[in-house]
Amino acid sequence: MSDRLAQRIDPFKAADQGRVLQGRVPVDQLHRLCEALADKLGEIDASFEFERDNAGRAFVVLDCRGAVNLRCERCLGAFRREIALHQRMPLADARFGIKDADEDVVSVGEDGLFMRDLIEDEILLALPLIPRHATIEACDPDAAAWLVKDGNEKSEGLQADSASGPFGVLRTLKDKD
Ligand SMILES: [Zn+2]
Repeated sequence: MSDRLAQRIDPFKAADQGRVLQGRVPVDQLHRLCEALADKLGEIDASFEFERDNAGRAFVVLDCRGAVNLRCERCLGAFRREIALHQRMPLADARFGIKDADEDVVSVGEDGLFMRDLIEDEILLALPLIPRHATIEACDPDAAAWLVKDGNEKSEGLQADSASGPFGVLRTLKDKD
């Protein structure tokens, strides 16, 4: 067992050996993930267990624990989101007809498996599409009130624009006939 995660690994060999790798990854090293977060604070404890089933198919069991800070789309305030993932995923393997495109299948390039990429992919998939505080009461009350007001004004503005948009032009042309 290792206390560090390799940059990349041959996952099929690791499955042959039944390897377990564990490590702690600072969130600020997960650049794609950071783009979805309010800040780059926190760490993720990750564990990879590689194994083969009785038929010889290779799997990785990924476990990720930690927390990240998301930005609420309602009030723009930051809030903490716990990360607790535990997934057993097959590795893409043409010999068994397990394809990259299949659901939950981990694709493996010629260079092997980039472990941090997999951590990032799985955490990103687990994050809410629209991050929000659990209740509107948890939002920053001043910011939430302002945003709701601003949103209404914007949609009214759009309607006014569309009246003088393409249909408005058509109407003008028709009037000339
Ligand atoms: Zn909020």
